[in-house]
Amino acid sequence: MDKEKLKQAVRLFIEGIGDDPERRGLRRTPDRVAAMCDEILAGYGVEPASVFREFHRERHDEIVLVRDIPFYSLCEHHLLPFFGKAHVAYLPDGMRLCGISKLARIVEVHARRLQLQERLTAEIAASLVKALRPKGVMVVMEAEHLCMTMRGVRAPGSRTVTSVVRGIFRENAATRAEAMALLRDGVS
Ligand SMILES: [Zn+2]
Repeated sequence: MDKEKLKQAVRLFIEGIGDDPERRGLRRTPDRVAAMCDEILAGYGVEPASVFREFHRERHDEIVLVRDIPFYSLCEHHLLPFFGKAHVAYLPDGMRLCGISKLARIVEVHARRLQLQERLTAEIAASLVKALRPKGVMVVMEAEHLCMTMRGVRAPGSRTVTSVVRGIFRENAATRAEAMALLRDGVS
């Protein structure tokens, strides 16, 4: 990331809104924001495929589902956060299993960029399809968008839900229903 450009931009932003970048509380703000971008937009520095370097070669042909993966992203239309939970499920091909933590990691890699929730959901699913070649993938994301709750329609607490379903979860209603039930209720 070009830190100097980021600092200039923040300074200009402060001037643009009519505040004084030289006043005490704001003097170091460009530095702080530039440093923060390294963290909250860290996805740009990571190739999604690199998350899946190794697989467990294990026979497992039941659904693997991780619920409630927290994520934070930035809306590319307003540069405001949207954040919530992702639920990721896949049905392995019987040969390629990834570590459970990789599912949370791939969510993070795609979330920490300027995003749209719809595209974010689709990109996570596409990465899983590419890396694991599973029989099916399902990604459901629910999020609050500050660009909806701080401004515009001002609908505090409203959540946007997106889902992307691939492979057998798309083709087979019973398998999809099983994944949906796991997602909703967990194992009872
Ligand atoms: Zn927005």
